[in-house]
Parts: sequence; C-alpha cells; structure tokens
Amino acid sequence: MTTDRPGTLPSRCDMHHLLDLELDELTAWLADRGYPKYRAAQIRKWIVESPRTGFNGMSDLPKKLRSELGETFAFWTMAEAARQESEDGTQKLLLGLHDGDRIECVLLRDDRGHRTVCVSTQVGCAMGCVFCASGLDGVRRNLTGGEILEQVLRLKSLLPVEERLSHVVVMGMGEPLANLDAMLRALRVVTSPDGLGISARRVTISTVGLPPAIRRLAESGVQYHLAVSLHAPNDPLRNELIPANRKVGIQSILEATDDYFATTGRRVTFEYVLLADVNDGEQHARQLASLLKGRPSLINLIPYNPVAGLPYQTPSPDRTARFVEILESAGLAVKTRYRKGDRIDAACGQLRRSRA
Ligand code: SAH
Repeated sequence: MTTDRPGTLPSRCDMHHLLDLELDELTAWLADRGYPKYRAAQIRKWIVESPRTGFNGMSDLPKKLRSELGETFAFWTMAEAARQESEDGTQKLLLGLHDGDRIECVLLRDDRGHRTVCVSTQVGCAMGCVFCASGLDGVRRNLTGGEILEQVLRLKSLLPVEERLSHVVVMGMGEPLANLDAMLRALRVVTSPDGLGISARRVTISTVGLPPAIRRLAESGVQYHLAVSLHAPNDPLRNELIPANRKVGIQSILEATDDYFATTGRRVTFEYVLLADVNDGEQHARQLASLLKGRPSLINLIPYNPVAGLPYQTPSPDRTARFVEILESAGLAVKTRYRKGDRIDAACGQLRRSRA
C-alpha cells in the first residue's frame, strides 16, 4: 500500500517525488491527462499551506485526479527516525531517506519572532572540514530538490498555526553549492509568491567557498544571502582545516564574493568557527581584519560546538572577546552567533552520528 502520511515510507520507492516537480512540470503532467492549468496551482496551494493533508484530503480536486496523483507520486519520501526538542524551542529531525540513508534538519525559534529552518543538501559531505561531524564519512549522494523542500515543509508543519516560517538557512549537512541545481529548485518554491513566499533576502546559503558556483548563484539573479565559511585567515591554516581549500585558495574565494556583491548588491557574510588555540589567536584576528578590510561584509563568529571524538575545543569567553575587539577596532562588522540547540546536537551531522 502506498501512503502519503508523514512518518511512513512509501512502499514503492520508485515513485516520483511530487515535490521534485516545478510548477510548469506539474502543469505539463496534468495537461497530458487532460486537466487544466489551474489544477497545478490548487495542488501547489495544498503543498505549501497544508502538506500534511495528503492527496486524499485535497478536497477541491476531482476524485479521479486525486487517485491518479496517488498512483504516480509520493508526497513524502522520508520517515521521521528521531525528533529532539530543547527548552529554547529548537527542534531537530533525523529523517530516513527511501534508500536507507539519514539526514538532519532543524527548526529554530528566537525571541525576535524569527522562525528559521536549517536544511541539508547532501547525505554527508565531501569537503572534509576536520572539525565538522557531517563529513567524517564523506559524501554518499546529493539530495533532490524535492528532498530539500520536504525538510522545509516538515519543519514548517511543526509550527503552531499562529507562527509563520520567516527564514531558511541552507546550513545543514552537505555543501549546497556542490548541489546547486537541486538547491535552487527547492528555493524557487520557498521564495516564489505562489510557494512559501519567503523573501530571498531571508534565505541564507552557507558555502565552503566554490568560486564558479558562487558566480553561477549570482547570475541566477536572485538576492540570496551568501555566507562563506572562511574559518582561517591564511591558506596554510585553511588547507589544514578545510582540505577542499587546497584546490581553491582564499584569494579566488574573495574575488568571487566581490563579484557576488557587485552583481547582487548583497553584502556577504564570512563565517569563522573559533577553535581554541587553532585559529583564535590575536595574530589570526589581525590577519582576518586585513583580509576583509574595505570589503562590504559581516563576520559571523561561531564558537565551536564540540563533536564527540574530535580534538577541537571552544575558546574561553575572554579569548573570544579579544578576537572580536581586534576585528571591531579595525572597523569590521562582527556578530557572534548566538548558540541554540547545543543540548540536542544541533551542529550539523551530530545527531546522525549519535544514532549511527
Ligand atoms: N558546507 C557548508 C555548510 C556547512 S554547516 C559550509 O561549509 O558553509 C554551516 C556552518 O557550520 C559552517 O560554517 C561549518 O563550518 C560550521 N560548523 C560545522 N561544524 C561545526 C561545529 N561543530 N561547531 C561550530 N560550527 C560548525
């Protein structure tokens, strides 16, 4: 039996994922069966407004169409393997994919009323960042656009009706710019007025820094907020922390982010995870300041969230404060990331590893 209930796997995994279809593709599928275009808009409305309804509950569609949809498409293709909730309202889902792999995604709430979902784009990650739990076993595969969108919809449906999803961050497992096309498919539904209608400016894509893909993203003409995980102010250290840097180099990343700003007008964020006695010294802060000086940017400092089995530590608050002070006195904009969900393994890849 095939089911479109969340939490249950469709028994036929060869079915198409409804969420993989763009609106024009759904319209074409409907046209092949003699249905008018407005049916696609009706289906889209159900998808974004009440995805838990499933095909049978789509009450404004003819019964025949509902059963044709159910025979051809799976609405959900993942099963909830675990859910964790922390006192600050953060909720994290571990989702089983139809082929047996697992991914994570998180819903974050803050006191400004922001409701943010953080989604994964790959199973694992190939970038090899030495401090990160997601890439310890390499990458297994890219997620499809539908699988990325399914995470957004599942998390959104955990919100009470009076709370609106306001932000999407692509900062879960994987390197989003290594799966650019699928990510953009999902984000088109997130940002389009007949989709979730969330402004592209409220969508953040976090990348290790892949220059050709940064330029392609800029050329997509959409004003996504780009965050680059810099984590080191010089190539020898960055090569150690992020092996993918060996073939790229900081200079070419900065040229690509300068182009991103020139094309989109959006200031780029540079993320910098603070690892005690590795990249958190005064000399690192000064080097970082001279690298970014004059560039319209924001530095987002992330105190390390320790991962079991890895040797890295969070710096002391004093050391972090000194790092901030050096950057600020050089005239740079700095934000230290408010940590949420530490108690529920909210750093990428941690829940998956603890349940392996
Ligand atoms: N591949 C993307 C998304 C990674 S996750 C990227 O590299 O940007 C988002 C951010 O969390 C990245 O900056 C990543 O380096 C950082 N991160 C990973 N593990 C972490 C940990 N244990 N503590 C703090 N930050 C971490």
